[in-house]
Amino acid sequence: MMKRSQLLPVLVGGVFCVAVVSLYRMLELMQRAELKQSKVKPAGQVDEDLSRLQLKIDKLERLLNDNNRLVATLRDSLLLRKASWDKGGQGGGVNGSSNSVLSRAGTLPGCRLAEKMKDGKNGVQLLDVYDLLPFDNPDGGAWKQGFDISYLDNMWDDQPLEVFVVPHSHNDPGWLKTFDSYYEDQTKHILNNMLIKLSEDSRRKMIWAEISYFSKWWSGIDEQKRDAVRRLLGAGQLELVTGGWVMADEANSHYFALLDQLMEGHQWMQRHLGVRPSSGWAIDPFGHSPSMTYLLKGAGLQDMVIQRVHYAVKKHFAQQQTLEFLWRQSWDS
Ligand SMILES: [Zn+2]
Repeated sequence: MMKRSQLLPVLVGGVFCVAVVSLYRMLELMQRAELKQSKVKPAGQVDEDLSRLQLKIDKLERLLNDNNRLVATLRDSLLLRKASWDKGGQGGGVNGSSNSVLSRAGTLPGCRLAEKMKDGKNGVQLLDVYDLLPFDNPDGGAWKQGFDISYLDNMWDDQPLEVFVVPHSHNDPGWLKTFDSYYEDQTKHILNNMLIKLSEDSRRKMIWAEISYFSKWWSGIDEQKRDAVRRLLGAGQLELVTGGWVMADEANSHYFALLDQLMEGHQWMQRHLGVRPSSGWAIDPFGHSPSMTYLLKGAGLQDMVIQRVHYAVKKHFAQQQTLEFLWRQSWDS
């Protein structure tokens, strides 16, 4: 039998245990109820979520329909354009060069020479040329890359050597300086001098490519100088080449950007001078894209000069006498 002094601690311990267990049980029940509550959202909130989802789906459907309509419009306008190309292209305005020829919109899409060139005998596939070249980058010579050029003094006695000198000035609309800094420091002086020097002697000529600069200069000169510019353009002493807003990069740009800046420049020329370019001039883009030639042909240009091509490729073309060529796109039929 326990003594009364022993019974008390046992009772206290028992009560403590019961209290702890019931406290634990209570907490457990509360937690379960909470979980249950969080799983079941109120009916109002569910409806709200559903209607928000429905709105999003409706919006997506609207966008999809808009997109379908846009694609259909584009397809229709392309078909119309193709039909007008098939008819033979339209005449263009004057270029302003001495041999100003009516530009033709060209024969896009597709290259008329493609059929003749299908056997590959008359064409050069640049990817094949790349396989031929070692690209070993030798140094020295008249050109870099070890291209020694030698000639005899009497080589052109019978048939004179034709040398084309093209006075030009390439102005980057922003490179080491900003567009405005270049304009203030250099560009406006070049164009002012051009106007003076060409007016002094009718044999002098000059070409200009970047319409962004030309339009800025134009907006700052008086009507008398503008008349002089129009006269020089008409006489073929001054020629606007390519006519893009910039001399566009061709390596990284999306074709839409190439086209966009071309339209900007051509529209400016049309609006202020009534001329359109017939020759392309791309002497600074780091590499050249056949897409650009395709777009220029579509814009009515007849020919173009390109410059930044690997020395090894230039040397190869010079040796093969194929530096003058018609550039066909590899995807063209
Ligand atoms: Zn440049």
